[in-house]
Amino acid sequence: MINEEVKNLSNEYIANTYSRFDVAIESGNGVFCKDFDGKEYLDFTSGIGVNSLGFCDSKWAEAVIKQVRTLNHTSNLYYTLPGAKLAAKLCLKSGMKKVFFSNSGAEANECAIKAARKYSFDKYGSGRHEIITLENSFHGRTLATLSATGQDVFHKFFDPFVEGFVYTKANDAQELLSKISEKTCAIMLEVIQGEGGVLELHSAFLDEIVDVAQKKDILIIVDEVQTGIGRCGTLFGYQGFQFLPNIVSCAKGLAGGLPLGATLFDEKTAAVLSAGSHATTFGANPIICSAAEAVLDSLNQEVLLDIMQKGIYMRVEIAKMPHVLSVNGQGLMLGVALDVDNKSVVEKCLQAGLLVLTAKEKLRLLPPLNITIEEIKSGLEILEKVLKNIE
Ligand SMILES: *Cc1c(COP(=O)(O)O)cnc(C)c1O
Repeated sequence: MINEEVKNLSNEYIANTYSRFDVAIESGNGVFCKDFDGKEYLDFTSGIGVNSLGFCDSKWAEAVIKQVRTLNHTSNLYYTLPGAKLAAKLCLKSGMKKVFFSNSGAEANECAIKAARKYSFDKYGSGRHEIITLENSFHGRTLATLSATGQDVFHKFFDPFVEGFVYTKANDAQELLSKISEKTCAIMLEVIQGEGGVLELHSAFLDEIVDVAQKKDILIIVDEVQTGIGRCGTLFGYQGFQFLPNIVSCAKGLAGGLPLGATLFDEKTAAVLSAGSHATTFGANPIICSAAEAVLDSLNQEVLLDIMQKGIYMRVEIAKMPHVLSVNGQGLMLGVALDVDNKSVVEKCLQAGLLVLTAKEKLRLLPPLNITIEEIKSGLEILEKVLKNIE
Protein backbone atom coordinates (compact mmCIF):
# COMPACT_ATOMS: atom_id res chain seq x y z
CA MET A 1 0.00 0.00 0.00
CA ILE A 2 1.00 3.61 -0.51
CA ASN A 3 -0.05 6.76 1.39
CA GLU A 4 -2.81 7.52 -1.08
CA GLU A 5 -4.49 4.12 -0.67
CA VAL A 6 -4.44 4.26 3.14
CA LYS A 7 -5.82 7.76 2.99
CA ASN A 8 -8.63 6.79 0.64
CA LEU A 9 -9.62 3.79 2.73
CA SER A 10 -9.64 5.89 5.88
CA ASN A 11 -11.65 8.66 4.30
CA GLU A 12 -14.20 6.21 3.02
CA TYR A 13 -14.86 4.41 6.30
CA ILE A 14 -13.62 6.47 9.25
CA ALA A 15 -16.05 9.18 10.32
CA ASN A 16 -14.64 12.50 9.24
CA THR A 17 -14.59 14.14 12.66
CA TYR A 18 -10.99 15.35 12.42
CA SER A 19 -8.73 16.44 9.60
CA ARG A 20 -5.37 14.86 8.92
CA PHE A 21 -2.17 15.57 7.07
CA ASP A 22 -1.63 13.85 3.74
CA VAL A 23 0.62 11.21 5.28
CA ALA A 24 -0.03 7.65 6.44
CA ILE A 25 2.50 6.42 8.99
CA GLU A 26 3.48 2.80 8.54
CA SER A 27 6.02 2.15 11.29
CA GLY A 28 8.23 3.83 13.82
CA ASN A 29 11.28 3.31 15.97
CA GLY A 30 12.43 5.74 18.64
CA VAL A 31 12.00 9.30 17.42
CA PHE A 32 11.74 8.26 13.78
CA CYS A 33 8.82 6.97 11.74
CA LYS A 34 8.25 6.09 8.13
CA ASP A 35 5.23 6.64 5.91
CA PHE A 36 3.81 4.22 3.34
CA ASP A 37 5.71 5.95 0.55
CA GLY A 38 8.99 5.25 2.36
CA LYS A 39 9.66 8.80 3.58
CA GLU A 40 11.19 9.19 7.05
CA TYR A 41 10.21 11.74 9.72
CA LEU A 42 11.73 12.87 12.99
CA ASP A 43 9.01 13.18 15.60
CA PHE A 44 8.53 16.23 17.82
CA THR A 45 4.91 15.27 18.66
CA SER A 46 4.94 11.90 20.50
CA GLY A 47 1.48 11.31 19.05
CA ILE A 48 0.31 14.42 20.98
CA GLY A 49 2.25 13.67 24.13
CA VAL A 50 1.43 9.96 24.23
CA ASN A 51 4.53 8.10 23.06
CA SER A 52 6.61 9.03 26.11
CA LEU A 53 9.37 6.64 25.05
CA GLY A 54 8.99 7.25 21.33
CA PHE A 55 7.82 4.67 18.82
CA CYS A 56 7.95 1.02 19.94
CA ASP A 57 10.59 1.36 22.66
CA SER A 58 12.10 -2.10 23.22
CA LYS A 59 11.59 -2.36 27.01
CA TRP A 60 8.06 -1.05 26.66
CA ALA A 61 7.34 -3.53 23.85
CA GLU A 62 8.80 -6.39 25.92
CA ALA A 63 6.53 -5.52 28.84
CA VAL A 64 3.49 -5.46 26.57
CA ILE A 65 4.37 -8.70 24.78
CA LYS A 66 5.04 -10.53 28.05
CA GLN A 67 1.68 -9.46 29.44
CA VAL A 68 -0.16 -10.21 26.17
CA ARG A 69 0.99 -13.80 26.55
CA THR A 70 0.14 -13.97 30.27
CA LEU A 71 -3.24 -12.35 30.89
CA ASN A 72 -5.09 -9.94 28.62
CA HIS A 73 -8.24 -8.98 30.51
CA THR A 74 -10.39 -10.20 33.38
CA SER A 75 -12.98 -7.41 34.00
CA ASN A 76 -12.76 -5.57 37.28
CA LEU A 77 -14.59 -8.33 39.10
CA TYR A 78 -11.21 -9.91 39.92
CA TYR A 79 -7.91 -8.74 41.31
CA THR A 80 -4.95 -8.62 38.91
CA LEU A 81 -1.34 -7.68 39.61
CA PRO A 82 -0.31 -5.13 36.92
CA GLY A 83 -2.94 -2.56 37.92
CA ALA A 84 -2.16 -2.95 41.62
CA LYS A 85 1.58 -2.49 41.01
CA LEU A 86 1.01 0.51 38.80
CA ALA A 87 -1.35 2.16 41.28
CA ALA A 88 1.18 1.63 44.08
CA LYS A 89 3.93 3.25 41.99
CA LEU A 90 1.72 6.17 41.00
CA CYS A 91 0.78 6.82 44.65
CA LEU A 92 4.35 6.51 45.86
CA LYS A 93 5.62 8.95 43.24
CA SER A 94 2.77 11.45 43.45
CA GLY A 95 2.03 11.63 47.16
CA MET A 96 -1.56 10.63 46.44
CA LYS A 97 -3.40 7.75 48.13
CA LYS A 98 -5.66 5.94 45.67
CA VAL A 99 -6.07 5.52 41.91
CA PHE A 100 -9.02 4.91 39.61
CA PHE A 101 -8.05 3.61 36.18
CA SER A 102 -9.97 4.49 33.02
CA ASN A 103 -9.12 4.70 29.34
CA SER A 104 -8.60 8.34 28.36
CA GLY A 105 -8.02 11.85 29.59
CA ALA A 106 -11.65 12.81 29.28
CA GLU A 107 -12.67 9.83 31.41
CA ALA A 108 -10.01 10.58 34.00
CA ASN A 109 -11.43 14.11 34.23
CA GLU A 110 -15.01 12.88 34.24
CA CYS A 111 -14.10 10.76 37.25
CA ALA A 112 -12.41 13.73 38.92
CA ILE A 113 -15.54 15.84 38.42
CA LYS A 114 -17.81 13.13 39.80
CA ALA A 115 -15.54 12.60 42.81
CA ALA A 116 -15.39 16.33 43.58
CA ARG A 117 -19.17 16.62 43.47
CA LYS A 118 -19.69 13.53 45.60
CA TYR A 119 -17.11 14.68 48.13
CA SER A 120 -19.12 17.83 48.57
CA PHE A 121 -22.48 16.04 48.52
CA ASP A 122 -21.38 13.56 51.20
CA LYS A 123 -20.14 16.34 53.46
CA TYR A 124 -22.43 19.30 52.76
CA GLY A 125 -25.51 17.91 50.96
CA SER A 126 -26.77 18.98 47.53
CA GLY A 127 -26.25 22.37 45.93
CA ARG A 128 -22.52 22.68 46.52
CA HIS A 129 -21.55 21.36 43.11
CA GLU A 130 -19.94 24.17 41.12
CA ILE A 131 -16.49 23.75 39.68
CA ILE A 132 -14.44 26.77 38.70
CA THR A 133 -12.31 26.19 35.59
CA LEU A 134 -10.03 28.47 33.59
CA GLU A 135 -10.55 30.25 30.31
CA ASN A 136 -8.47 28.64 27.57
CA SER A 137 -8.47 25.31 29.35
CA PHE A 138 -9.05 21.96 27.69
CA HIS A 139 -10.45 19.02 29.62
CA GLY A 140 -11.81 16.62 26.99
CA ARG A 141 -14.63 15.80 24.61
CA THR A 142 -17.33 14.14 26.70
CA LEU A 143 -20.27 16.39 27.58
CA ALA A 144 -19.09 17.08 31.14
CA THR A 145 -15.47 17.69 30.16
CA LEU A 146 -16.52 19.89 27.21
CA SER A 147 -18.60 21.83 29.71
CA ALA A 148 -15.57 22.10 31.98
CA THR A 149 -13.46 23.37 29.08
CA GLY A 150 -13.29 27.17 29.28
CA GLN A 151 -13.45 27.89 25.55
CA ASP A 152 -16.64 29.07 23.81
CA VAL A 153 -15.75 27.24 20.58
CA PHE A 154 -16.38 23.98 22.41
CA HIS A 155 -19.79 25.07 23.69
CA LYS A 156 -21.71 24.67 20.45
CA PHE A 157 -23.90 22.04 18.73
CA PHE A 158 -24.35 19.67 21.66
CA ASP A 159 -26.76 21.57 23.90
CA PRO A 160 -27.69 21.22 26.64
CA PHE A 161 -24.28 21.12 28.29
CA VAL A 162 -23.61 20.02 31.84
CA GLU A 163 -24.44 22.71 34.38
CA GLY A 164 -22.26 23.83 37.24
CA PHE A 165 -19.07 25.10 35.62
CA VAL A 166 -17.89 28.66 36.17
CA TYR A 167 -15.04 30.09 34.09
CA THR A 168 -12.41 32.55 35.16
CA LYS A 169 -9.18 34.04 33.75
CA ALA A 170 -5.95 32.14 34.32
CA ASN A 171 -3.42 33.88 36.59
CA ASP A 172 -6.00 36.35 37.93
CA ALA A 173 -6.46 35.29 41.54
CA GLN A 174 -8.77 38.18 42.40
CA GLU A 175 -11.23 37.27 39.66
CA LEU A 176 -11.15 33.62 40.62
CA LEU A 177 -11.71 34.35 44.30
CA SER A 178 -14.63 36.59 43.43
CA LYS A 179 -16.31 33.64 41.73
CA ILE A 180 -16.14 31.39 44.77
CA SER A 181 -19.54 31.02 46.42
CA GLU A 182 -21.32 28.65 48.80
CA LYS A 183 -21.98 26.52 45.70
CA THR A 184 -18.29 25.99 44.85
CA CYS A 185 -16.93 22.49 45.40
CA ALA A 186 -13.73 22.53 43.36
CA ILE A 187 -11.27 24.42 41.18
CA MET A 188 -9.97 22.52 38.16
CA LEU A 189 -6.87 23.56 36.22
CA GLU A 190 -3.90 22.55 34.09
CA VAL A 191 -0.62 23.89 35.51
CA ILE A 192 0.42 24.49 31.89
CA GLN A 193 -2.53 24.87 29.53
CA GLY A 194 -1.65 22.61 26.62
CA GLU A 195 -4.28 22.89 23.91
CA GLY A 196 -4.88 26.48 25.01
CA GLY A 197 -1.43 27.50 23.75
CA VAL A 198 1.19 26.21 26.23
CA LEU A 199 0.41 28.84 28.86
CA GLU A 200 1.93 28.43 32.31
CA LEU A 201 0.12 29.25 35.51
CA HIS A 202 2.13 31.51 37.83
CA SER A 203 3.13 30.14 41.20
CA ALA A 204 1.84 33.29 42.95
CA PHE A 205 -1.60 32.66 41.42
CA LEU A 206 -1.55 29.01 42.48
CA ASP A 207 -0.33 29.84 46.00
CA GLU A 208 -3.13 32.31 46.49
CA ILE A 209 -6.00 30.19 45.22
CA VAL A 210 -4.76 26.98 46.85
CA ASP A 211 -4.55 28.75 50.18
CA VAL A 212 -8.14 30.04 49.99
CA ALA A 213 -9.41 26.72 48.61
CA GLN A 214 -7.90 24.79 51.52
CA LYS A 215 -9.47 27.12 54.07
CA LYS A 216 -12.89 26.75 52.43
CA ASP A 217 -12.61 23.00 51.82
CA ILE A 218 -12.79 23.56 48.05
CA LEU A 219 -10.95 20.79 46.21
CA ILE A 220 -8.10 21.43 43.81
CA ILE A 221 -8.28 19.19 40.75
CA VAL A 222 -5.19 19.26 38.55
CA ASP A 223 -5.64 18.01 34.99
CA GLU A 224 -2.24 16.46 34.26
CA VAL A 225 -3.40 14.67 31.13
CA GLN A 226 -0.81 16.52 29.04
CA THR A 227 1.64 17.86 31.64
CA GLY A 228 1.95 14.62 33.62
CA ILE A 229 4.28 11.61 33.35
CA GLY A 230 7.55 13.43 33.04
CA ARG A 231 6.54 15.79 30.27
CA CYS A 232 7.54 18.93 32.19
CA GLY A 233 10.68 17.53 33.81
CA THR A 234 8.89 16.49 37.01
CA LEU A 235 6.77 13.35 37.12
CA PHE A 236 3.69 15.57 37.49
CA GLY A 237 3.52 19.22 36.56
CA TYR A 238 2.25 20.25 40.00
CA GLN A 239 5.47 18.89 41.52
CA GLY A 240 7.17 21.97 40.08
CA PHE A 241 5.01 24.04 42.47
CA GLN A 242 4.46 24.16 46.22
CA PHE A 243 1.17 22.35 46.70
CA LEU A 244 -0.45 18.94 46.71
CA PRO A 245 -3.72 18.69 44.76
CA ASN A 246 -6.75 16.80 46.08
CA ILE A 247 -7.39 15.07 42.76
CA VAL A 248 -5.07 14.55 39.79
CA SER A 249 -6.02 13.22 36.37
CA CYS A 250 -3.53 11.84 33.90
CA ALA A 251 -3.63 9.91 30.64
CA LYS A 252 -1.78 10.77 27.42
CA GLY A 253 1.83 9.73 28.18
CA LEU A 254 0.97 7.30 30.96
CA ALA A 255 1.06 4.02 29.02
CA GLY A 256 3.47 5.16 26.29
CA GLY A 257 1.07 4.66 23.38
CA LEU A 258 -1.79 2.60 24.75
CA PRO A 259 -5.05 4.05 26.08
CA LEU A 260 -4.99 4.55 29.83
CA GLY A 261 -6.46 7.19 32.08
CA ALA A 262 -5.87 7.50 35.81
CA THR A 263 -7.50 9.65 38.45
CA LEU A 264 -5.47 10.01 41.64
CA PHE A 265 -7.00 10.90 45.00
CA ASP A 266 -5.41 12.37 48.10
CA GLU A 267 -6.25 11.38 51.68
CA LYS A 268 -9.34 13.56 51.74
CA THR A 269 -10.89 12.22 48.52
CA ALA A 270 -9.56 8.64 48.56
CA ALA A 271 -12.77 7.04 49.85
CA VAL A 272 -15.31 9.26 48.08
CA LEU A 273 -16.03 6.97 45.14
CA SER A 274 -17.26 3.96 47.10
CA ALA A 275 -18.12 0.50 45.74
CA GLY A 276 -20.69 0.74 42.95
CA SER A 277 -20.35 4.49 42.44
CA HIS A 278 -17.99 4.45 39.46
CA ALA A 279 -16.49 1.87 37.08
CA THR A 280 -15.45 1.12 33.51
CA THR A 281 -15.16 -2.21 31.67
CA PHE A 282 -11.58 -1.82 30.50
CA GLY A 283 -10.30 -0.16 33.69
CA ALA A 284 -6.89 -1.39 34.92
CA ASN A 285 -6.45 -3.62 31.89
CA PRO A 286 -3.36 -5.76 32.64
CA ILE A 287 -1.64 -5.26 29.28
CA ILE A 288 -1.98 -1.52 29.39
CA CYS A 289 -0.98 -1.30 33.06
CA SER A 290 2.17 -3.32 32.27
CA ALA A 291 2.98 -0.86 29.50
CA ALA A 292 2.52 2.02 31.93
CA GLU A 293 4.76 0.38 34.49
CA ALA A 294 7.52 0.23 31.86
CA VAL A 295 7.04 3.94 31.24
CA LEU A 296 7.16 4.85 34.94
CA ASP A 297 10.20 2.63 35.53
CA SER A 298 12.11 4.45 32.83
CA LEU A 299 11.40 7.89 34.31
CA ASN A 300 13.83 7.98 37.22
CA GLN A 301 15.13 11.17 38.81
CA GLU A 302 18.08 11.40 36.44
CA VAL A 303 15.90 11.02 33.38
CA LEU A 304 13.52 13.69 34.68
CA LEU A 305 16.40 16.07 35.19
CA ASP A 306 17.55 15.31 31.66
CA ILE A 307 14.09 16.18 30.32
CA MET A 308 14.37 19.57 32.02
CA GLN A 309 17.86 20.12 30.55
CA LYS A 310 16.82 19.10 27.05
CA GLY A 311 13.86 21.45 27.28
CA ILE A 312 16.11 24.34 28.27
CA TYR A 313 18.46 23.54 25.40
CA MET A 314 15.55 23.55 22.93
CA ARG A 315 14.17 26.82 24.26
CA VAL A 316 17.48 28.58 23.94
CA GLU A 317 18.11 27.29 20.43
CA ILE A 318 14.59 27.99 19.18
CA ALA A 319 14.59 31.51 20.62
CA LYS A 320 17.47 32.35 18.24
CA MET A 321 15.57 31.26 15.12
CA PRO A 322 13.98 33.66 12.65
CA HIS A 323 10.25 34.50 13.09
CA VAL A 324 10.27 33.30 16.69
CA LEU A 325 8.65 35.79 19.08
CA SER A 326 8.86 33.75 22.27
CA VAL A 327 9.16 30.22 23.63
CA ASN A 328 7.01 29.03 26.53
CA GLY A 329 6.61 25.86 28.50
CA GLN A 330 8.57 23.57 30.69
CA GLY A 331 10.60 20.43 30.05
CA LEU A 332 9.63 18.86 26.73
CA MET A 333 6.32 20.69 26.47
CA LEU A 334 7.08 23.81 24.47
CA GLY A 335 5.03 26.47 22.74
CA VAL A 336 6.61 28.73 20.16
CA ALA A 337 4.97 32.04 19.23
CA LEU A 338 5.72 33.04 15.64
CA ASP A 339 5.19 36.10 13.48
CA VAL A 340 4.17 33.82 10.60
CA ASP A 341 1.22 31.44 10.18
CA ASN A 342 1.87 28.35 12.30
CA LYS A 343 -0.13 26.04 10.00
CA SER A 344 2.18 26.70 7.07
CA VAL A 345 5.22 26.07 9.28
CA VAL A 346 3.76 22.71 10.33
CA GLU A 347 3.07 21.84 6.69
CA LYS A 348 6.60 22.79 5.59
CA CYS A 349 8.18 20.91 8.50
CA LEU A 350 6.21 17.84 7.44
CA GLN A 351 7.52 18.15 3.88
CA ALA A 352 11.03 18.53 5.29
CA GLY A 353 10.65 15.42 7.46
CA LEU A 354 9.80 16.84 10.90
CA LEU A 355 6.53 16.27 12.76
CA VAL A 356 5.39 19.21 14.92
CA LEU A 357 2.07 20.33 16.43
CA THR A 358 0.11 23.52 16.90
CA ALA A 359 -1.70 24.91 19.95
CA LYS A 360 -3.89 27.88 19.03
CA GLU A 361 -1.58 30.19 17.01
CA LYS A 362 1.58 28.65 18.38
CA LEU A 363 3.82 25.85 17.30
CA ARG A 364 3.77 23.14 19.96
CA LEU A 365 6.59 20.66 20.48
CA LEU A 366 6.18 17.48 22.52
CA PRO A 367 9.16 15.27 21.58
CA PRO A 368 9.53 11.78 23.08
CA LEU A 369 10.97 12.11 26.60
CA ASN A 370 13.95 9.88 25.77
CA ILE A 371 15.00 11.86 22.69
CA THR A 372 18.76 12.44 22.60
CA ILE A 373 20.49 15.81 22.21
CA GLU A 374 21.74 14.68 18.80
CA GLU A 375 18.20 13.92 17.70
CA ILE A 376 17.00 17.24 19.08
CA LYS A 377 19.72 18.96 17.05
CA SER A 378 18.63 17.17 13.87
CA GLY A 379 15.03 18.23 14.43
CA LEU A 380 15.96 21.81 15.23
CA GLU A 381 18.06 22.01 12.06
CA ILE A 382 15.00 21.17 10.03
CA LEU A 383 12.87 23.66 11.94
CA GLU A 384 15.44 26.42 11.47
CA LYS A 385 15.70 25.75 7.74
CA VAL A 386 11.92 25.92 7.42
CA LEU A 387 11.73 29.18 9.37
CA LYS A 388 14.56 30.71 7.32
CA ASN A 389 12.74 30.01 4.10
CA ILE A 390 9.28 31.15 5.07
CA GLU A 391 7.80 34.56 4.24
C1 LIG B 1 -5.78 15.69 25.66
C2 LIG B 1 -6.29 16.28 26.91
C3 LIG B 1 -7.49 15.85 27.49
C4 LIG B 1 -8.38 14.83 26.83
O1 LIG B 1 -7.79 13.58 26.78
P1 LIG B 1 -8.41 12.42 25.85
O2 LIG B 1 -7.56 11.24 26.10
O3 LIG B 1 -8.36 12.92 24.44
O4 LIG B 1 -9.82 12.23 26.29
C5 LIG B 1 -7.87 16.40 28.69
N1 LIG B 1 -7.12 17.33 29.30
C6 LIG B 1 -5.96 17.78 28.78
C7 LIG B 1 -5.16 18.78 29.53
C8 LIG B 1 -5.52 17.27 27.56
O5 LIG B 1 -4.38 17.74 27.03
